[in-house]
Amino acid sequence: MRIARVALDVPLDQAFDFAVPEGLDPPRGSLVVVPFGRTRKVGVVLARPARTDVPADKLREVEKVFGDVAPLAEADLELHAFCAAYYQRPLGEVIHASLPPRLRQAKRRALKPAAMPEAAPAPAPPPVEATPAQAAAVAAVREGFGRFHPVLLAGVTGSGKTEVYLRLVAEALSRGRQALYLVPEIGLTPQLEERVHARFPGEAIVAAHSHLGEGERAAAWVAAQSGRARIVLGTRLAALMPLPGLGLIVVDEEHDPSYKQQEGLRYSARDVAVRRAQSLGIPVVLGSATPSLESWANAKQGRYALARLPGRAQSGARLPAVRMVDTRADRPLDGLSDALRRALAACLARGEQSLVFVNRRGFSPVLFCRSCAWHSACPRCSANLVLHLRAGELRCHHCGHRERVPARCPGCGSPDLAPVGQGTQRLEEALAAALPGARIARVDRDSTARKGALAEVLGRVRDEKVDVLVGTQMLAKGHDYPRLTLVGVVDCDGALFSTDFRAPERLFAQLTQVAGRAGRAGSPGEVLLQTDFPTHPLYAAVAAHDFEAFADAALEERRVARFPPFSHLALLRAESKRAGEALAFLRTAARLAAPLAGKVEVFDPVPASLERKAGFDRAQLLVRAASRAALQPFLRQWKAALDARAERRVRWSLDVDPQET
Ligand code: ADP
Ligand code: ZN
Ligand code: ZN
Repeated sequence: MRIARVALDVPLDQAFDFAVPEGLDPPRGSLVVVPFGRTRKVGVVLARPARTDVPADKLREVEKVFGDVAPLAEADLELHAFCAAYYQRPLGEVIHASLPPRLRQAKRRALKPAAMPEAAPAPAPPPVEATPAQAAAVAAVREGFGRFHPVLLAGVTGSGKTEVYLRLVAEALSRGRQALYLVPEIGLTPQLEERVHARFPGEAIVAAHSHLGEGERAAAWVAAQSGRARIVLGTRLAALMPLPGLGLIVVDEEHDPSYKQQEGLRYSARDVAVRRAQSLGIPVVLGSATPSLESWANAKQGRYALARLPGRAQSGARLPAVRMVDTRADRPLDGLSDALRRALAACLARGEQSLVFVNRRGFSPVLFCRSCAWHSACPRCSANLVLHLRAGELRCHHCGHRERVPARCPGCGSPDLAPVGQGTQRLEEALAAALPGARIARVDRDSTARKGALAEVLGRVRDEKVDVLVGTQMLAKGHDYPRLTLVGVVDCDGALFSTDFRAPERLFAQLTQVAGRAGRAGSPGEVLLQTDFPTHPLYAAVAAHDFEAFADAALEERRVARFPPFSHLALLRAESKRAGEALAFLRTAARLAAPLAGKVEVFDPVPASLERKAGFDRAQLLVRAASRAALQPFLRQWKAALDARAERRVRWSLDVDPQET
C-alpha cells in the first residue's frame, strides 16, 4: 500500500493519511489535492509512511499532485513545525498560512511562469558615500555573514538606516544569496520599492504584501521559492516565504506592532525572522530609532550585537527641536493652540511643509448632548460612535456599525448636540480656517480607503503640492520629505493613562517617529507637542531624543513588575454573545490550569479593555512564566485540556507573546 500523510488546514492538530494511486509519487513537501468530507482540499505531504492505521475501506485517494509548484523544502517545513509548536496552532494551519491564497485553492489553473528579468550581475555603485557610522554598521553586520549573527541597528530618525540595509543586501547578492527585507507596511513605502529597484537595476525583485492581487502574490511566492527573485521586500507575511538561498534578513522598524499578527496564527514576524536566521546560520538586522524593549534588552545583555547611528545622515541635518505647548495655559481652539497656529503660519510663509498629527485612539469626535449628557454609544460595543460629519454618519471604529446623525438628542429631544474631541476631519476644517490659501491634505483610514489613494496623496506631498498634511499614525513612520520642517502633535495625553503595560513604550516610539519626519534635510525642524502634562518624563525623553534613557528606565520598571522581557506571557482570550459566559469559561480555564501550572503564574480572568465588541462579550486571562522553557510545556498541556472541552458557545484563542494586553 502506498500512503501519503497530509497536513490540511483544519482546526485539528493531526495529519491525515491517503492512498497514493498508481502514476503519482509525491515526495514530502508536495502540494496535493485530497477529498475531505464532501469537499476537496489542498494539502501538503508530510511523510510517506509504509503503513496506516486507517482501515482500507475508509482510506481515500490523493486526487492530484500539483506539478507547477516545487515541493516545500526541509528548512521551510522545519520553520512551520517550529511556529506550530511555539504558537500552539495546528501544523496544517501554519503551512497553509505560508502559502499565497491561490495555492490554497483545490481548483485552480496551472500557474503561468511569471515574466521576470533574469538576475543581472550586482549594484551600480552606491549613489552616496556612507557616513562613518553607516560604514561601521555595515562592517558590523558583514563580519557575521555565514553564521547566525543578530544585530540591532539603533539609528535615530533620518540616520540613513535604509542605506545600511541596501549595502547589506548588495553584499548578500554578491555572495550569491537571497535577501529578505521586511517592513511594517509596504503600502506606506512606495518610495522604498522604487529605491530598491533603482539601486538594483535588472535584479529580480518581488514585493509580497496583502494589497497584491492573488495572481501577483502567487507569482511572487514562486519566484522566491525558485530562487529567481533574489530580493524579497515584504510585510509580515513575507517572513514565511520559501527562500532556498536566503543569506540575510532585514527587519526595518522592528519595534512596530504590526509585525504581530492579531488573529489565527498569531505570530511575530520579527521573532520568526530571528528564529529563521538562527536555524539557517545567517545574519539578521533589526533596525529602529526606537527599538522594542525586548530587542534592546537582548542587545544590552550581549545576545545581539549593537550598531548605533547616532546622528542624521545628510550633512547639516539635525534632529528637530521638540517643544511642549502647555495646553492648560494656551487652550486649544478646535484642537489648535495659539502657539501651534503661529508656527503653522510661519512655516507656510517660509514655503515649507508641516504635518499635524492626531492620535486617533481616544481622540475622536463623539456626539454629546449638553442637556442630558447623552453621548453616541455603539449598540454592539463598549465604545463610542465617532462623528463623520461629511458623511452625516456616526460610525463605530471597532465593529463598523453606522447610523445617521440624529437631528435631536435621542435621550431628551434637545437639539443642542455638539461634538466633543478632535478628529482628523474637524481638524482639517480648523486648519483651513486658520491658514487661508494653504493646500491641506488629510491622511487617515477614510481618506485612503480607495486603492492607490494613499500613494497619490503622498506623491503630491513629495511634489510639494501640499503645504499641510493632517492625519493619523499612517503618517508617523518611514516617510522622507525634505521640505517638511514642522510637526504638530495635537493630543496624545490619553495614552499616558492606558492600562496596557506597553502603552508608554508605544507612545514614546510613536512620538519619536512622527517627530522624526521634521527637518530631515538641511532646514532645521521643529516639533510642537500639545499637552496638559508638559513636564511628564516620557515627553522630556522624547524632547531630549534620548531613547536609551527612556528604555533603561522603562526596562527597570518592567524588571520590578516582572513583565517582558523579564518574563514571558500568554493570553487566553474568550468571547461569547451571552454576558458573563466568556468570564465563566476563563474561570474554568484557570481551574484547569492550576494542576498543570507549576511555576507558571495564572492571573485572574478579567474583562477585555474593550469589553463588548460587535455584540460579543470579551474577557481575557494572562499567564506568566520566568522563561519560555517553563511556559511552552504548560501551554501545550493547557491547550489540550481546553480543546478536550469542545466548547461551543465561547470562542477562544491563545496568544503567545501578546502585544496587546
Ligand atoms: P532612516 O530610515 O534612518 O530614518 P533614511 O534611510 O530614510 O533614514 O535616510 C534619511 C535621509 O538621509 C534620506 O534622504 C537619505 O537619502 C539620506 N542619506 C542616507 N544616507 C546618506 C549618506 N551617506 N549621505 C547623504 N545622505 C544620506
Ligand atoms: Zn439629551
Ligand atoms: Zn461597535
